[in-house]
Amino acid sequence: MNPAKPSTGTAAAAISGVVVERDPARMRAAVLAAQRGGRRVGFVPTMGALHAGHGSLVAQALARCDDVVASVFVNPSQFGPTEDFSRYPRPFAADCALLASQGVRWVFAPETESLYPAGHATAVVVTGPAEPFEGMLRPGHFSGVATVVCRLFLAVPADVALFGAKDWQQTLVVRRMVRDLGLPIEIEVCPTVRESDGLALSSRNAYLSPADRQRAVALHESLCQAAALWGAGQDVTAIEAAMRHILEQRGVSIDYAAVVDRDTLATQIPPGSPAVALVAGRLGTTRLIDNQELPPRPRPPG
Ligand code: AMP
Repeated sequence: MNPAKPSTGTAAAAISGVVVERDPARMRAAVLAAQRGGRRVGFVPTMGALHAGHGSLVAQALARCDDVVASVFVNPSQFGPTEDFSRYPRPFAADCALLASQGVRWVFAPETESLYPAGHATAVVVTGPAEPFEGMLRPGHFSGVATVVCRLFLAVPADVALFGAKDWQQTLVVRRMVRDLGLPIEIEVCPTVRESDGLALSSRNAYLSPADRQRAVALHESLCQAAALWGAGQDVTAIEAAMRHILEQRGVSIDYAAVVDRDTLATQIPPGSPAVALVAGRLGTTRLIDNQELPPRPRPPG
């Protein structure tokens, strides 16, 4: 048996100085015991293949909490049938070492069957912010996300869970689910960590060829342009056209490039409301997404 992967039913194992827990009930008991002892617990859900973006979520959790749980689980239900579930990177031992070096107390790494028992027939459905953009292009994706996040929150009843602004629409979906179901957990959204040229860190960047890696900076460039034009008072149609132009010039196959209401993702942005520029595109077989918040603009006079 791989010592980095104790199976369900075995006691929690210490790997690289961090406790790896695979059993949801034991994970829950450990978190509740810590909280009974007066400790505030933070939770960072991930799919592993960790990078400095995940690291910043962990650092912010550690700054706000006494104990931090990070989950490592590649969630099958959020991948479509033609997506990259089987090739998604799974460097589990290295992930544990990184989390241990940061001071995480537990890694929750459940077996798929313990989150999705045989014959499972239940899922969380989210409408509203889950419908456009990723929701349209990846049918079932946000139901998969909401279902696993709900299930993870049951196993890890933390005080606060931290998510990256990198997946902006996901943060809206999670916030809405937490509000609508009355889940007793705070949600905190942390800024996107980027490479020096602006490319947002992503586990999927590892798929990029060197040439595509260079072209991938177009996503960030399109967002910078959107922010500049938004600040200069340009209308949304002109901003979206400028974004598309940059992406096309670099050979990015565009899924969407849009400026919408920051909180609802509606195309109508009320005067004086914040917006967000969203971009998704493909380079070769790799699909990347990114976004940029846009501050409220002064209301037009009169
Ligand atoms: P993932 O492992 O891709 O499911 O991501 C786990 C968490 O890390 C999610 O909340 C992501 O939004 C967040 N995340 C991913 N990339 C970044 C990044 N570049 N900066 C900050 N957070 C990120």
